[in-house]
Amino acid sequence: MRAEIAVIAGDGIGPEVMREALAVLDTVGELFGHTFTYREALLGGEAIDKTGEPLPQRTVTVCRSCGAVLLGAVGGPKWADCARRPEQGLLGLRLALGLYANLRPALLRQSLMDACPLKPEVAAGFDLLIVRELTGGIYFGKRGRADGAAFDTEEYTEEEIARVGRVGFEQASARRGRLCSVDKANVLETSRLWRETMRKLSAEYPAVEYGDMYVDNAAMQLVRRPGQFDVIVTSNLFGDILSDEAGILTGSIGLLPSASIGDGAFGLYEPVHGSAPDIAGTGKANPCAMILSAAMMLRLSFGLRDEALAVENAVEQALGLGARTADMPLAGTAPISCARMGERIRAKLTAVAR
Ligand code: NAD
Repeated sequence: MRAEIAVIAGDGIGPEVMREALAVLDTVGELFGHTFTYREALLGGEAIDKTGEPLPQRTVTVCRSCGAVLLGAVGGPKWADCARRPEQGLLGLRLALGLYANLRPALLRQSLMDACPLKPEVAAGFDLLIVRELTGGIYFGKRGRADGAAFDTEEYTEEEIARVGRVGFEQASARRGRLCSVDKANVLETSRLWRETMRKLSAEYPAVEYGDMYVDNAAMQLVRRPGQFDVIVTSNLFGDILSDEAGILTGSIGLLPSASIGDGAFGLYEPVHGSAPDIAGTGKANPCAMILSAAMMLRLSFGLRDEALAVENAVEQALGLGARTADMPLAGTAPISCARMGERIRAKLTAVAR
């Protein structure tokens, strides 16, 4: 197949990890007979430096004209005092592209059992996906300050809940068939609407085993018995917090990919981590999250399941053979650089696919 991909390398370690992900995609192209064309675009700090705007209009146009977007990371101390912050560019881009559902898988790889903070018998084999609502809720509600007080507001419509809810049910159908909707319906009105809407929707997906859970319990269950979850669907705020909690159970933030999707196959794929200014330019960045984000793109936007699986297996095998960047130390093994990690993964990919 031929596919055009918008590439936003961004700031900090963004360009370093992006280089490795594109090299992996080129290898996938050679091995499976696909042509990927990359169209570069600016966002965040680099965009502020070059255009004065964190989200130039051209970036939105380029992204809309492609089949998917790959994004490194944006932000950093250099732009901390700018009137318009780099991160605003990212929020604006997700909104402009109608990407209302954020998918964050978290699984414990056999090769990284040692890096998981939970006891092996508690953590063994968990493999879950958090679907987080991305363009509504308290992060987008009215907020303000007056007379020494401050307020933030959360609003959700049934439609906003149902569309992300459907993503949850569909992902559960494609996985192990279990969906847990997380809310705070014992306190919050938006959560009561969330729960009603999700329960109504569950009638349309009889093959999915549906349940709901309060967010405080979900936070506890994630560290008590993470293996009980398959897919979790939740609001913007709760998803932000729970996905970081689930993420750390996998061993390193440098391993976590994500996808932001809306209606249709188009999506934006990015690692969960930020621009890591403390290690930018040192060659220490872990490229796995970026490479695994590219694998999610192959599966979800381009329907290339075998190719996605080959990339995921290559990462797993490289890790299994002890290839580790400094963020996932392994006793008796010297850490390798970002570029070397990318090379090891490409070598495994070639071996897996042939
Ligand atoms: P961060 O994720 O950039 O870094 C947190 C810690 O994890 C740092 O010690 C960093 O070195 C380490 N780390 C992150 N990614 C790594 C990788 N791939 N390999 C090895 N180590 C890695 O979070 P932060 O320090 O809170 O934020 C830095 C900047 O990134 C801020 O400007 C923030 O706003 C921005 N940010 C951007 C995004 C995004 O672009 N989606 C997400 C989060 C933070």
